[in-house]
Amino acid sequence: MTDELKLYDPFQKMQFSDENCFLCGTDITIEQRTPVFGTWLQEKYGLQHKELLLLDKSVATFGELTIPCCDSCHTQYVIPLEKEVEQAAALGMVGLQQLDQKRLFQWIGKMYYGTLVTELIKETDPLIMPQNPISENNKMLGKFREFFKVLQSLRVPMVFSDFLPCSLFLLEVSPTEDELPFEYQDELTTMAFSIKLGSVSVVCTLLDNGIIGKALGRLYRLTQGQQLHPIQVAEFKARVFYAAYIFNAVPEYFERPLKPEDRYITMDTIIDDVTNEVFNPWVLTAYAHMLEEMLKPWGIREKEILANPQQPISFLVNEQAGFNPMERFKRLN
Ligand SMILES: [Zn+2]
Repeated sequence: MTDELKLYDPFQKMQFSDENCFLCGTDITIEQRTPVFGTWLQEKYGLQHKELLLLDKSVATFGELTIPCCDSCHTQYVIPLEKEVEQAAALGMVGLQQLDQKRLFQWIGKMYYGTLVTELIKETDPLIMPQNPISENNKMLGKFREFFKVLQSLRVPMVFSDFLPCSLFLLEVSPTEDELPFEYQDELTTMAFSIKLGSVSVVCTLLDNGIIGKALGRLYRLTQGQQLHPIQVAEFKARVFYAAYIFNAVPEYFERPLKPEDRYITMDTIIDDVTNEVFNPWVLTAYAHMLEEMLKPWGIREKEILANPQQPISFLVNEQAGFNPMERFKRLN
């Protein structure tokens, strides 16, 4: 077995420090770091001084967020990935659709994991005592550990046998009432993520082996080839984030035993959908609450969302369950 086909497991000894590369674990100095948000992204959307709410509810700027990274991982793996996504994003929807989904997963995964690692390193400081440290939450750590196995496809040649670890959704936003060139949202526990790059919103659930993508497949297909009003994108996000919230399974990943001639790791997966329901029950009021959160910029409250208790309000879907085209948003009353 060659050394380059070896996965790194920082969770075994909880090796989260400023002196270990986040991706390969190599000892480094505290100056060796890589930005969580690619430099091109920061420059293109003026994010350097823009604030971002961290997982522990503290605030940092996008520019401040960097993670420990050895020179080799930085130049060989992170920079080429950023370059590839930058070029794809420059072409808008077409570019991002053509980009290998695995690369998009790695790119989103790096940002998600980067914010997580920032949090885990902080928790090693005895002066910062969060109320519910992630480093003591075994269930979450188990989930992150599985996630990091597949994220390492960024560094270690790896083939996913017959799955993608995540669900990805690409939505095109209509320019008519779109005022935000960039938007970012991630949720630590549910691993739901979204980022808006110009006219494209990318929504992702990071560790579901594509199950949420299948569950929302019909809705997603309705949106394809359409330009969505931002409020429709917000509703789509609410549906994805809510699905991630009730998603109740953690995939496990296994490396196939290596043969001497192997040039890559083959990853297999199982997800327990036999003894467990993959989704907890869908609860109308809980969904309505999520939708209310997402619809905050339009000030639509739960009362309006649930005006018809049989059917929560939808901007995406009409009464015949087809796509509801929407150029401008008109207040309901
Ligand atoms: Zn490294």
